[in-house]
Amino acid sequence: MPNCTNCSAPIPLNAVSCDYCGSRNDVDLKGVHYYTTHESDRERLCPVCTVHLRTIDLGIGGKFFIERCEECLGLFFDPGELEALLEQSVKNVFEINRSRLELFKLSGQTSSRVATYVKCPTCATMMNRINFGARSGVVIDRCKEHGVWLDAGELRQLCEWMKAGGQLLDKERAEERKKEAMILEEERRQNRSQGGATTGSDTSGQFDPSMKSDHDLLDSVFKAVRFFIKL
Ligand SMILES: [Zn+2]
Ligand SMILES: [Zn+2]
Ligand SMILES: [Zn+2]
Repeated sequence: MPNCTNCSAPIPLNAVSCDYCGSRNDVDLKGVHYYTTHESDRERLCPVCTVHLRTIDLGIGGKFFIERCEECLGLFFDPGELEALLEQSVKNVFEINRSRLELFKLSGQTSSRVATYVKCPTCATMMNRINFGARSGVVIDRCKEHGVWLDAGELRQLCEWMKAGGQLLDKERAEERKKEAMILEEERRQNRSQGGATTGSDTSGQFDPSMKSDHDLLDSVFKAVRFFIKL
């Protein structure tokens, strides 16, 4: 848990301001990432404060530019950058801490901003509000084309969510959904072939080939799942 830079009181997960002295803290970057600030060569505006965003170089793997509002400390990431930063920041998570993840769901959004739709800093169209992963409790704003906006505190919350195994839980669920879909599909297939057997007169010729293709399909799905687990 980071401490207030003004009075050293601990700052709770779902807050960006100190409960004791009221100062606002940069819980997303300060003490977490080393960065340098640059003048932005693009005219991007903060979707909340409508001031110009500043470019920040996090220097991950060479240069790693994101944009930040100096007023509200919100962050804008080009497509794929947020995922890359999270991967870089949080490594070696092998366990899912379900009770901790449950808390994330309950803590809700970090943002002090009322849940309204805001404009994309690049193209000024309204962004979509999307849930980031299962139970992260973080709702981010996304322009499909230009990237995602995170209010102050949300990056920290996403990092903590990943440390608690949130992303692992996402993968686990994706696999469960795949398995369920496979079982459903198998049931449908069986129903269909049973239906065929009652109406059709010749079943002996078509039974074997359909079994074979089912088996091949299952086999390739299992391979895909195994590949996914390795990743
Ligand atoms: Zn303080
Ligand atoms: Zn702002
Ligand atoms: Zn856009």
